Amino acid sequence: MSAPHCCPKDENCGGCCAHSHRHDLGRKSIGATVPELFGANVFNDQVMRERLPKETYRALQNTIHTGASLQPEVAAVVANAMKDWAIERGATHYTHWFQPLTGSTAEKHDSFIAPAMDGSVIMEFSGNQLILGEPDASSFPSGGLRVTFEARGYTAWDCTSPAFLKEDGAGNVTLCIPTAFCSYKGEALDKKTPLLRSMNAVSKQALRVLKALGNTTSTKVIPTVGAEQEYFLLDKEFFNKRLDLMSCGRTLFGAPAPKGQELADQYFGAIKDRVAAYMHDLDIELWKMGVTSKTKHNEVAPSQYEMAPVFTSTNMAADHNQLVMETMKKVALRHNMVCLLHEKPYAGVNGSGKHNNWSLATDDGINLLEPGQTPEDNAQFLVFLTALITAVDRHADIMRATCGSSGNDHRLGANEAPPAIISIFLGQELTDILEKLAKGEKICSQSGCQFLKIGVDSLPDLPRDNTDRNRTSPFAFTGNKFEFRMVGSSQSISGHNVALNTIAAEALDEIASRLEKAKDVNKEIQLLIKETMAQHSRIIFNGNNYSEEWVKEAEKRGLPNVGNTVDALKAIVSPKAVKLFGKYSVLSKEELHSRYEIYVEQYAKHINIEARAALQMTRRQYIPAALRYLGVLGSPAAAKSGVAKKLQELVAALLDSIHAKADKLEKETDKAGAIDSTEKRAAAFRDKVMAAALSLRLDVDRLEELVPADLWPVPTYNDLLFRL
Ligand code: ADP
Ligand code: MG
Repeated sequence: MSAPHCCPKDENCGGCCAHSHRHDLGRKSIGATVPELFGANVFNDQVMRERLPKETYRALQNTIHTGASLQPEVAAVVANAMKDWAIERGATHYTHWFQPLTGSTAEKHDSFIAPAMDGSVIMEFSGNQLILGEPDASSFPSGGLRVTFEARGYTAWDCTSPAFLKEDGAGNVTLCIPTAFCSYKGEALDKKTPLLRSMNAVSKQALRVLKALGNTTSTKVIPTVGAEQEYFLLDKEFFNKRLDLMSCGRTLFGAPAPKGQELADQYFGAIKDRVAAYMHDLDIELWKMGVTSKTKHNEVAPSQYEMAPVFTSTNMAADHNQLVMETMKKVALRHNMVCLLHEKPYAGVNGSGKHNNWSLATDDGINLLEPGQTPEDNAQFLVFLTALITAVDRHADIMRATCGSSGNDHRLGANEAPPAIISIFLGQELTDILEKLAKGEKICSQSGCQFLKIGVDSLPDLPRDNTDRNRTSPFAFTGNKFEFRMVGSSQSISGHNVALNTIAAEALDEIASRLEKAKDVNKEIQLLIKETMAQHSRIIFNGNNYSEEWVKEAEKRGLPNVGNTVDALKAIVSPKAVKLFGKYSVLSKEELHSRYEIYVEQYAKHINIEARAALQMTRRQYIPAALRYLGVLGSPAAAKSGVAKKLQELVAALLDSIHAKADKLEKETDKAGAIDSTEKRAAAFRDKVMAAALSLRLDVDRLEELVPADLWPVPTYNDLLFRL
């Protein structure tokens, strides 16, 4: 019998663990079964069509597509069909699956059982249970929106994102109903509610623009997102020996390994068998839940990888990205590995980000950021492009704020990542075209040079390849979409997409108002481009974003450069932000302030945990290890050697310093923790505690270079990065 629970240490195992379906399907047939497997755990359109009476199906589709409210009779029929479908697939429980402001997901499982009169049970799931839930969610952060005595927020079904089944290693199957989470007064307590609101806002304004441009067919505009997810893997055995990794997700100490990423031998390298086995299982788990896992490859840092799905509507993409992160972690454990989603698990090598590819698509399949072939397409493309230039320049501070977290602070502005300065990369060709259009100059292409009339002439072909070259830009136009590269790997993708959708809505709103009034739409577009370039072209930068010169140049241009989360977050409660999000009914002033409070608090809490972990490791592991080594160096045998004496002095001096620095870290942490104001507390953790922890780290890392390997109490960077 094959060992289903084999461990990767077992050489016959190849890294695969309990995965019945994998063995059921058999390796050879797997390719052929993917279409059947894909979405097998999703209550998708096809299942609905099969299982719902025609009328019910139509009513539900109407709700999904127009947002019309769902009648109780319809909900009851849908719930029953969903329950039967789920039970046939082994489900015993259901849960309203939601996305609180912690950034991850939450679920409380209820079984379908309902007691019958005769002492037996039946399996039941009502329309009410489908559409509304009341989790006692008083422990989730609400930033003051909900006081404890009215703690019961409620969850409401988001029927635009399909229900699905989640399987766990213990054999449980749970029906998950994607929901929004609100307070009794209807205030958003989650990441999904504002996302749905922002999608409506941008759809409405984009449609106005399209109408003014003569589009008579589209009825909805959907912001689309494809989120590339970077991650690290390491052996679980090593992970379990590091308190910093276990409690903070990143190393707080660690001398560099002799080899880092300098040989560039990991990036796009051949995927090792153990990792390939993991990726294989990950794909299957994701495919079953309808996540279109498409691309996988080795990333730049040792033991770093990436997965990218095919893009979809923003709210589905956000749900799916949560499933991706959760499944990555879950599947890793089955392979005796741990998946790290932290933005900077290791000093000295690349951190992890999430590249958020974003565009706008109409319900009849037009990508509004696609340059296109005809003069009409080009006019449309230029209008939407100008809207984005305006939007990002106006609200660069908000975009930056949405990427703030204690983890991402280690990336933004550090070497490998985009800087904390927001700018747009358009590529030289496209920038030239915009500049020339603005100045009324001739535009040259293979067919010669001419004055280009918008809506009448075609744009010269844009070389798609060239537009994708700049990997240093935080917001790059990549041919038919924008790629926002500032986002942290562990972050929910909701926040920054809420911002993107809303700032785009505002710019499109203004453009629509102009075009609706214009006597000559094409002339108005020409004028619009001219004005946009005059006012907002400072946000366009096609050079190297990682260079020192850019930092100086950006300052000259007046672009904001905010290097840390505590300062960056202020942008979400500025009068400008309150006005913007209020105008489009995405987030009220109260909702913005509650979010601000929560995120600043989270920042302080994370650094507090890091400081406590650093102290424990220092006092219970590093100091004792140094003392043990001093014992060896002081032994009669060693005492004969002059080298031992020298080492003894070095280690003793470091030990003194480490001891003093640990005391200092403790004092700063206590002091910071006692500050009442959330904002000041977070600032103290940033300025005092982080500095004390970093100073301690320098000594401990130096100590690591002196102490014999067999006396060193934790796995080293070499173990963590190179042992897969
Ligand atoms: P790269 O690493 O070169 O940026 P990837 O293939 O890893 O490219 O990722 C590109 C991502 O962009 C994919 O998730 C893809 O589905 C997504 N994408 C492509 N077109 C669009 C679009 N119109 N809107 C949103 N995302 C898109
Ligand atoms: Mg990629």
